[in-house]
Amino acid sequence: MTTTIRTHILGYPRIGARRELKFALESHWRGERSAAELEATARDLRAANWAEQAKAGLDFVTVGDFSLYDHVLDHIQLLGCEPARFAFRDDEPELARYFAMARGAVHCCGGHGQALEMTKWFDTNYHYLVPEFTPDTSFRLASQRLFAQVEEARRLGHRIKVVLLGPLTFLWLGKEKAADFSRLELIGRLLPVYGQILAQLSQLGVEWVQLDEPILATELAPAWQAAFEPAYATLASAGPKLLLASYFAPMAENARLACQLPVHGLHVDGVRGAADLPAVLDWLPAHKVLSVGIVNGRNVWRTDLDAAFGRLRPAVERRRELWLAPSCSLLHVPVSLAGETTLDAELRGWLAFAQEKLDELQTLKRALRGESIDWSDARRQVEARRASPRVHRPEVGARLAALGEEAGWRASPHAVRRAAQRAHLKLPLLPTTTIGSFPQTPAVRQARAAWRRGELTEAAYRATMEAEIAHAIRVQETLGLDVLVHGEPERNDMVEYFAEHLTGFAVTQHGWVQSYGSRCVKPPLLYGDVARPTPITLHWARHAQGLTTKPVKGMLTGPVTLFQWSFVRDDLPQATVLLQLALAMRDEVEDLERAGITIIQIDEPALREGLPLRPAARADYLAAATRAFRLCAAGVADATQIHTHMCYAEFADILPAIIALDADVLTIEASRSGMESVRAFAEAGYPNELGPGVFDVHSPHVPATEDMVRLLEYAATLFAPERLWVNPDCGLKTRSWEEVEPALAHMVAAARTLRARL
Ligand code: GLN
Ligand code: ZN
Repeated sequence: MTTTIRTHILGYPRIGARRELKFALESHWRGERSAAELEATARDLRAANWAEQAKAGLDFVTVGDFSLYDHVLDHIQLLGCEPARFAFRDDEPELARYFAMARGAVHCCGGHGQALEMTKWFDTNYHYLVPEFTPDTSFRLASQRLFAQVEEARRLGHRIKVVLLGPLTFLWLGKEKAADFSRLELIGRLLPVYGQILAQLSQLGVEWVQLDEPILATELAPAWQAAFEPAYATLASAGPKLLLASYFAPMAENARLACQLPVHGLHVDGVRGAADLPAVLDWLPAHKVLSVGIVNGRNVWRTDLDAAFGRLRPAVERRRELWLAPSCSLLHVPVSLAGETTLDAELRGWLAFAQEKLDELQTLKRALRGESIDWSDARRQVEARRASPRVHRPEVGARLAALGEEAGWRASPHAVRRAAQRAHLKLPLLPTTTIGSFPQTPAVRQARAAWRRGELTEAAYRATMEAEIAHAIRVQETLGLDVLVHGEPERNDMVEYFAEHLTGFAVTQHGWVQSYGSRCVKPPLLYGDVARPTPITLHWARHAQGLTTKPVKGMLTGPVTLFQWSFVRDDLPQATVLLQLALAMRDEVEDLERAGITIIQIDEPALREGLPLRPAARADYLAAATRAFRLCAAGVADATQIHTHMCYAEFADILPAIIALDADVLTIEASRSGMESVRAFAEAGYPNELGPGVFDVHSPHVPATEDMVRLLEYAATLFAPERLWVNPDCGLKTRSWEEVEPALAHMVAAARTLRARL
């Protein structure tokens, strides 16, 4: 049997190799660029993305993956379910409505209302806008944007596959805004609109439509599972051939269902969902297309083509038509290595960003077709990475191997430590503090940029940062805060800053990945064994502590967050990498303590983010994560107080793990929920000290003292006041000093008011 082999991708980064989309969006929002100019930039980006795919020899270019802000928001408009609360006028342009939903009322002409809620796209660092559903929600084909893009690609002469979110995933991603109602009830109203869209695509000559249903990689309630068969039976006859796509984790118990749906093809994540492959090879009817996501769409390492080839062989033997693809959309990796001029050649050889991954698909296709092609160069790079002394530092492995169980435990239980800390720190009831960062003013940013360009000497840069720290200390002393921070002016980013100082990490110049809308992150590359050759934060911490008699908190990023917000090597178990990070940061913790810093905060805002999609994998992750945190923190004396901080998340389902961290003080985001998270901590019997945030740092609004008094009073009814701290929800680096000073003054006043009452 000769197997037809094709290549395609599930989606491509939208932001542009130089973040063109980000800059176009932001200048449009500032009123400097018209809608037409923004659309022109978007059109150019799409054309460039398709040209890359065509140039790499893919059999289809993918249309429908582009988005000006978020693909879920695109579907809200396509499917005509903009929430009624925005009350848009009929004549309001589609784009204005789009940004009003994305960004809220300020930017909206005529409509009103808060932006749609934003939340994490499965277990990635991408965030989508949450559709809102009520029993009255109706759907209609309300946007021609997708079809215009199909025309655009056709005019450019491309062979097209269109991608859409599948109807069940679309509903699943939304939220019910009414009681006693399940959004799944809306499926009957939604499907006819999908039918219409598919029919219209068919009229445009589109042969294949990829319907993304990543919820197949989650544990589905029976009603959701049961909805697939009838939904897809309805869509089967709408026109185009359907490729159902799942990714990010194994489909496991949903795999058989996916194989049996009346669609023409199935895409399986061959990396994170590799466990599904044998069963899918058995169950997927022979006439259907199997698309194997063989190239990792979530990471940046060059594919081991020999291994991939070996894994694909059985599929080639058993399928009539096999498609090769990245495991998921390439949205989650940087665009191209082409712009990286400072990565050394060796490291660069180990990498493949989106553009380079396209070529890997092509190489695999040709080899599987029996062409004799030479990838010895690629093989050499893979082997070089495996053997490189930059990757393997024997002393790191040896240190880990020598670790005893006791290294992960503080010397005494919290009650004993608490007494030692109280005696030593002598803090008042309801101590006040902040989460770490203070405003990153234009002057601070400019100084850093000039220093990096070599225009500011090291000494001058240090002096500028020290002056900034001195300012922060003065402000905090004047405001009367109890535990001070140095303000983090020297940090570009809480992860990249440490990555620049640890071995085993590299940073890129342009390796940006979209986080939401115009916001991007630039994850460091964690390629090798991690160690901390010299102290990182010590100088700044000492400088700050030297300026005041109040305690200054040392401020570090924890091992789990360093892991989660980096692209991590794939040749070691997660738990091992976490422990390496923990030991490296433990060295910093101990150096701080030796320098007289007796309060040390180890931030872990990403703890919950790492939670695997599949519940079965969660316990192992949480065990590894908490072990790493404890190992990082446990080297200090009883009297040294370890803080940690978490935000952007619900904590309720991981409370046992949070308790297991055994931090002396935990600060959390809590103000927007009106302290409801404190209740969960109280009910779980959280034994240590807790600092629920009393104001939202994302708003320029200066919080009133009375509001914070009210929140604190309420918190004090839920949780023992002698174990409560008073602090903002998160760091203040995105605010201005003009906002921060009155906000903190009110916060201190609120704490004092409450102290007098308690
Ligand atoms: N210490 C960091 C800051 O204050 C914490 C940031 C975070 O939680 N994301 O900015
Ligand atoms: Zn935070």
